[in-house]
Amino acid sequence: MKRDFSQLSGVNFDLIVIGGGIVGSGIARDAALRGLHTLLVEKDGFAHGTTSSSTRLIHGGLRYLRTMQFGLVRQDLREREIILKIAPHLVKRLQFVIPALRSEPFYRFSLPFGLYLYDFLAKGRSIPRWRRLSRQKTLELEPNLAGIDDLVASFLYSDCQAEYMERLCLENLLSAAENGACILNHAAAKNLLMKDGTVHGIKVTDNFTGENYVANGRMVVNAGGHWANLLWETSNVKSKDRLRRTKGIHLLTKKVSNNALVLFAKSDGRLFFIIPLWDYSLIGTTDTDYTDDLDSIYASTSDVEYLVTELRHYFPQFGPDDIYYTMAGLRSLVASGDKTASDTSRAHKLVDHEQQTGLKGLITVLGGKITAYRAIGEEVLDLVCKKFGVQAPCTTADTPLPGAPAVSSHEIESAAKQNDLPVETVTYVASLYGSKVSSVLEHANADKRLGQPIAASSPDILAQIKYAVEEEEAVTLSDFLLCCTNIGLGPSQGLDTIETVGGEMGPLLGWSKAEQQGQIESYRAIAALGQRFRT
Ligand SMILES: Cc1cc2nc3c(=O)[nH]c(=O)nc-3n(C[C@H](O)[C@H](O)[C@H](O)COP(=O)(O)OP(=O)(O)OC[C@H]3O[C@@H](n4cnc5c(N)ncnc54)[C@H](O)[C@@H]3O)c2cc1C
Repeated sequence: MKRDFSQLSGVNFDLIVIGGGIVGSGIARDAALRGLHTLLVEKDGFAHGTTSSSTRLIHGGLRYLRTMQFGLVRQDLREREIILKIAPHLVKRLQFVIPALRSEPFYRFSLPFGLYLYDFLAKGRSIPRWRRLSRQKTLELEPNLAGIDDLVASFLYSDCQAEYMERLCLENLLSAAENGACILNHAAAKNLLMKDGTVHGIKVTDNFTGENYVANGRMVVNAGGHWANLLWETSNVKSKDRLRRTKGIHLLTKKVSNNALVLFAKSDGRLFFIIPLWDYSLIGTTDTDYTDDLDSIYASTSDVEYLVTELRHYFPQFGPDDIYYTMAGLRSLVASGDKTASDTSRAHKLVDHEQQTGLKGLITVLGGKITAYRAIGEEVLDLVCKKFGVQAPCTTADTPLPGAPAVSSHEIESAAKQNDLPVETVTYVASLYGSKVSSVLEHANADKRLGQPIAASSPDILAQIKYAVEEEEAVTLSDFLLCCTNIGLGPSQGLDTIETVGGEMGPLLGWSKAEQQGQIESYRAIAALGQRFRT
């Protein structure tokens, strides 16, 4: 991938995708694999929007059975299998424990029905069925639940997790680029270009230089997530659909459980998760309507208090000092007049503006879970191909992502020997890049210094920085820390690495000293949002 705006001149793209979150990335990949000449523009870093603030589950959503969204759950359970197949290096099975309490007879008796149904809807799954565990077996799995006096048993079921969700997004873009797509980050679509009731391109701004470019295309897909309707406003596009934005937060904390736990909030009955994430726990989420600043979202003191209070019903010893930092993101839901945020459907909607208002050349995607991203891409491209009158079948369900398959332990050992690196280092690097690990290690082989860790606290090595700049369009500190790697998601938020990473990226990208310092300050400001609840 090359961030080169000259690729825009003199070209009429088949498809222009706005938004480099998981949905836009999946659309761009599908389009490129079908042979369409595709452009994707992302106004910030890839995956920087809601994609990076999710719970990181690839799941059908047990919770949505309560609101009877059976079709959605069935589709997402099917997608779970597909994503496991095309991205085995990034997605893994995760075991969930739901404690059954004497004081909650409703959940104790209704959950087995829900779990039967969940298994039934996951036809053809590769994941084990649910089962019930005695109190004793539950405590063997989760000793920290011993403090719950009325624990009588638990239910065990499985779903999937993508710890490196940002890389799942990035690999879709890498695959699109491998198939001829032009992918530009820090490139904002400012306006739709229209003539005679037809959208024929976008005006796009390079966020670093402020320079404006014209990108022409036969069709534009707006996959701008919770910003999608801003483009409608700037381009005077009318639609009867409305977005409902709701905020969801997570806490990264000291390790609370061995498995994922599903707990119910005592105050409102909402379900929330404790998810193991590396050596820590990710706890969330909340679901509250949001009308504030779209570019600066953070967990407030009251958001955090809600989760901590609910958590303490199960883990009384848990306190605010156990929190490293918080994350916050916005769901963009299709408004449908439902009473509560939690009751609003998580299903996506394609707005075909030609059908709605006669405006040709524009499709907008509203809503949609990460789990559904590939299916959304397929649906969008089926519609685009129909409009173009071309027959090009979707291949994304059978085409592995660039880092697939996962690397075997035998391959890891021989790569470690060959590159003179510890097996643990290669194991970790392979968990991020899958089969592309050898391309990263080549840098460490060519220059032994690059085999050194970036910081004492992180298993990442300097070679990853060079690889990210040369192959993955990392052009800011946060591109590297929050998308190409997850260094920024560790307890220190990567703040102990910024001088080193800045010092390595600077010469590769030709930054002046002032620009390097500017990068460091911008990253500090992003990290500070995660601590804002403390004040
Ligand atoms: C708290 C929380 C937990 C969640 N957990 C899960 C989960 O576990 N599993 C799951 O399946 N789903 C989950 N979801 C839902 C999921 O995260 C989102 O539905 C998904 O990430 C949406 O992806 P997206 O690409 O549409 O949006 P985003 O990731 O927000 O991407 C949109 C992108 O468009 C870019 N953009 C916008 N306007 C422009 C423009 N004019 N020019 C250029 N670029 C532009 C933005 O910068 C952004 O990067 C969760 C959501 C929340 C809030």
